[in-house]
Formats: sequence, structure tokens, C-alpha cells
Amino acid sequence: MTDRDDIPFVFAGDPCARLSSRRSDTAWLQHALTSPATRFVPVCGEDNVLLAHDFAPLLLDSGTARQLLPQAHCSVLLGTCGEHPCFALGLPPATVLPAADTVLTSLRPQFTLLDHGTLALLGYARVMVHWHLHNRFCGKCGAVTASRSAGHELHCTRCGNILYPRVNPAIIVLVTHADRCLLGRQSDWPEKRYSTIAGFVEAGESPEATVRREVQEETNIRVASMHYTASQPWPYPASLMLGFRAQAENTDIRCNDAELTDARWFSRADIVMGIGNGSLLLPTQRSISYRLVQTWFEETGEYSLDRYQQAGGSKNH
Ligand SMILES: [Zn+2]
Repeated sequence: MTDRDDIPFVFAGDPCARLSSRRSDTAWLQHALTSPATRFVPVCGEDNVLLAHDFAPLLLDSGTARQLLPQAHCSVLLGTCGEHPCFALGLPPATVLPAADTVLTSLRPQFTLLDHGTLALLGYARVMVHWHLHNRFCGKCGAVTASRSAGHELHCTRCGNILYPRVNPAIIVLVTHADRCLLGRQSDWPEKRYSTIAGFVEAGESPEATVRREVQEETNIRVASMHYTASQPWPYPASLMLGFRAQAENTDIRCNDAELTDARWFSRADIVMGIGNGSLLLPTQRSISYRLVQTWFEETGEYSLDRYQQAGGSKNH
């Protein structure tokens, strides 16, 4: 293990003790909901709430949260952060919040402004509120659902059907062949952005089968062998990225479906040159896709990807 392995990816920090045993402890919950130590993480519509002047998260105390509760569609026990019990509070988008300078925002543009723990906590709150918003009715009989287990279950008020939060697994893979790696780009990405191959695990499919299928579908490359490396939650809306390294059998790239507009083999020298002359933008430095590229890039011991990124970035701005 290296020092770098201790640094979590975006959304992958361990933001709180989840306290699953307290979710049905009515007396504890009642006390926690009114305790001065408790903090509430508001999510308005599907957006998190940050303070405009310093991009710190807006956290509400229990007194303020109590005033907003009549407007809230859900509250969810997230756990305890240090001494503070934490709840997510799902609010309408137009809620008037008790701080003047708030911004409602996706967390995606804010990666560099928030620390790991804050990102992970806000992402967790966002996933739970999104789940409540999108499961207000039973999929079996259409009746209204009601929250239970401190917001971690939804029960149908007519047929008793129970819903649990779902996580959607996806694979993300760096494929290599000899001294090169395979990166592709989607049409809606920023210009010159290339990244690892990714795709959702389908029903009845193992993540390993998804790696083989996605790489072949998107690039015509057959995977000879692979191993799992690490994972990263992604709260848009509730994915879990499973990171793999894979070796390719062949090198003749063909973008078989419409998902990728281009895919190429990059040597380490190609990456150094691309970053240096501004023709290549790699994924954000705190993402699992960047880490997959970085780990491979630095295996020879000659290069530091962060160093090239910083040098390239400063030159290109
Ligand atoms: Zn039902």
C-alpha cells in the first residue's frame, strides 16, 4: 500500500458512523431530532446547498430544521459525524433557507472546493433524498409509500410492499496492451477529454462480464485478463463504480456503438506530450478513472502524473 492509496476518491470517504441499529430506536431518534448537537444536511429538490462565500456546506441545527420540517418531504438518519447525529432533510427547490448567501448546486463542479469527508456526506444525503423523491408511490399497486427505519425503508400504505435504496453497479476499466493504455472519449465531454472505459452492469451480469462486454462493444478490444482494484460511489443518481485493470488481446480499435466518438492507445510518452501541448485532458485528479491511469502511468517509476498535470495545467491556463 502506498500513501496515495490512503487518499479516498471523490465521494468515497467514510463520512459518518451509519448507526443502522438506531434506525428503529424510536426514543434515540426522538432525542436526536431535537438535540442541539444534531446537524441537518438540506437537499433542495435534487441539489445540495453550499454557502456562496466559501463553498462550505450549509448545515442546519435542530431548531432551524424544526421550522422547515412542515415543508420537508423526508428526513433520513445518515449517522453520526464525530459528536453530531446527522440527518438529510429533503426540501422543495424553492425553500427559503435561513442563510442569505446559499447556492443550490450539483457537487460535480465542486470537487476541488470540498474535502473528502464533506463530499462523501453531501453525496450520501443527496442519494437518500433522491431515492425518496423518486419512490413516493408503490411500483406494485401505485399507492403512496411511507418512510420507516429513519428514512432507510419505504413501505406501501396499501399492499405492504417494502422498498430499499438501490445502488447501481457500473464498471470502469483501464485496458492496457504492452506499454500503452486504452482511453476513449464521449461526444458530450469537454473537448480533448479522454478517459477509461465505463458502463453499467446489466441484470444477471457479473462485473467481470460487463468489463468484457463494454470494452468489446465500445472499442472492439477483447479483454484477455483483468483484476479488480478499487471502487467509488457516484451519487448521480446512485451508482457504484467498480474499478478494474485489464489486459487486451488485440489492438485494432473500432468504435462499435455510438457511446464513444473516439478511442486510442496512449503510451506514457503520448500522455506526457498530450498534457504538455494541451491536446489531452485527463479525468479530474480525485476520480477513480484518474487513479487507474495514474497507477499504470507510474508503474515504471519514471513519471509522476500529478507533476505533469500540474505543469500542463498551469501552462494551459
Ligand atoms: Zn403497494
